[in-house]
Amino acid sequence: MTETIKNLATARLIELFSAIQGEGLNVGTRQIFIRFAICDLRCHFCDSAHTWQPSDTCRIEQTPGKRDFVTYANPVTQSQLLGWVEQQMLPPGLHDSISLTGGEPLLHAPFLQEFLPVVKEKTGLPIYLETGGHRPQQLRMILKDLDLVGMDLKLPSVSGENCWAAHEEFLQVCGDGGLEVFVKIIISQDTNLDELIQARDLVAAQSPMIPVFLQPVTPLKPSESMGGKHGEHLLPPTPEQVLEWQGLMKRELKQVRVVAQTHKMMNQL
Ligand code: SF4
Repeated sequence: MTETIKNLATARLIELFSAIQGEGLNVGTRQIFIRFAICDLRCHFCDSAHTWQPSDTCRIEQTPGKRDFVTYANPVTQSQLLGWVEQQMLPPGLHDSISLTGGEPLLHAPFLQEFLPVVKEKTGLPIYLETGGHRPQQLRMILKDLDLVGMDLKLPSVSGENCWAAHEEFLQVCGDGGLEVFVKIIISQDTNLDELIQARDLVAAQSPMIPVFLQPVTPLKPSESMGGKHGEHLLPPTPEQVLEWQGLMKRELKQVRVVAQTHKMMNQL
């Protein structure tokens, strides 16, 4: 059955572009990034603070990888977004998947509920969700149209946010729905060991096979921290800390990788 766009919901975007995924299980692959506006968390290490508020405009890349952005007004309709995604599909075969990122994409769940079945049918591309991992109810709404979820597990000592109960429920929803998920944990020199153990045990209780990425924090530039008082002072862990913490996680988990933000090393978006 051909899915059709009903345009019942709109969304506020920040940008759409083609780029190399720099983090997690899809690292190194080519994705169409749809970056949604608005986030309800305020992580100290956030490098996307410009997405926190609803923006009046968004920028849309016209040719994959050329950064030839054109500005459009928000909110955008589903037909508009579908057209911009299809514009990215030339040349065919370039992209491995579509990344829903933000901001917090799950704050747009009603929009995605209508949009995802259509964009999947039109492009044939898998859908990858990047999320703070704290909105299980909204995840349920779009779960059937997702192929992979990368969820943050936010350690209070590094992020300043406390989402333990929501993270636990989120992982349960993934498990119950048979949805492939991996977990990303940002670590800094100030990471609290008890929190790291709590995170490890929370994931292991769902499944010791869930891949976990320990991601050393990338210190924020002043322009990225939006005047926040924490981000510029977060320092990446020492080589000794990284080795010790990976070992600690591997006592209960089968797949624990340490991967920094590779797109920043390569000066990619
Ligand atoms: S959840 Fe993501 S976008 Fe939101 S504040 Fe945290 S790092 Fe930034």
